[in-house]
Amino acid sequence: MRVLWLQRLTCCGNTHSFLNYEYLSSLFSRVDYFFHPSLSIEGEEEAIGKVGDIDLLIVEGAVEREDKALKSLAEGSLFVMAVGSCAVYGNIPALNNPEVCGLQYRFKEKGGLLGEGFVSRGGLPVINLSGCPAHPSWIVGTITSLLEGIRPKLDQWGRPKDFYSSLTHWGCTRNEYFEWKVEAQELGSQKGCLFYHFGCRGPLSYSSCNITLWNGVSSKTRVGTPCFGCTEYDFPRVGLWETRQYAGLPAELPIGVSKRGYIMLSGVAKMFAPSRLKDED
Ligand code: SF4
Repeated sequence: MRVLWLQRLTCCGNTHSFLNYEYLSSLFSRVDYFFHPSLSIEGEEEAIGKVGDIDLLIVEGAVEREDKALKSLAEGSLFVMAVGSCAVYGNIPALNNPEVCGLQYRFKEKGGLLGEGFVSRGGLPVINLSGCPAHPSWIVGTITSLLEGIRPKLDQWGRPKDFYSSLTHWGCTRNEYFEWKVEAQELGSQKGCLFYHFGCRGPLSYSSCNITLWNGVSSKTRVGTPCFGCTEYDFPRVGLWETRQYAGLPAELPIGVSKRGYIMLSGVAKMFAPSRLKDED
């Protein structure tokens, strides 16, 4: 497999994430050619000339709509992967520039550089690994699937279901506090849930961050920082550390929960929360 990793408008966060993968050398031993601007000696143009047919084109960073060279490379590649929320949705570089977008999206709107109907030679739309950054296991896991000849099953945003079918809330060590509506009193605290006041997007975002931990040991919510919902199209948003509320209710409820259900259940939960959760030091 010949893999070309190109960077456009990026902070290189996904490269840092990728380089954090523990068994990178075993991945490299399985690919015929792997170009990466931080790892390869040759430059991008030289690599494009050398690689011949591209089996997997990986793009990190938001792109400009006029990037015809990238578009033509994508059209000739067997598979195309956008790594990180900038390459997927445009994200921060696209905020104030309508000419900047992701490969197949611009925030919520489908299209991007390659167009709504783009399908690569291998028969898949852009494989989107959203996240700021994407987890190293999501990146390497997707490359490995393709190496094995397995096409990842994708969700409605083109993201592999293996990594994006569950909410970030799943596996969070604070689930019991969430259920009983016991709120964290401060950021960084090991107790309480961060949904009610501190803006946690765990129940509104899809990722496996609390199942496949970062560096094998942690996640944002485990260290007392709210999930910022960086895998979703509406990231970044203002007020990352606060929960917008109307009449005492969170402005956005967990996915699939009705306002009525939330009011009924949260009132009862708060009233009957176990004292061991409320009173612990
Ligand atoms: S801190 Fe966030 S992810 Fe954890 S239980 Fe609360 S809402 Fe869910």
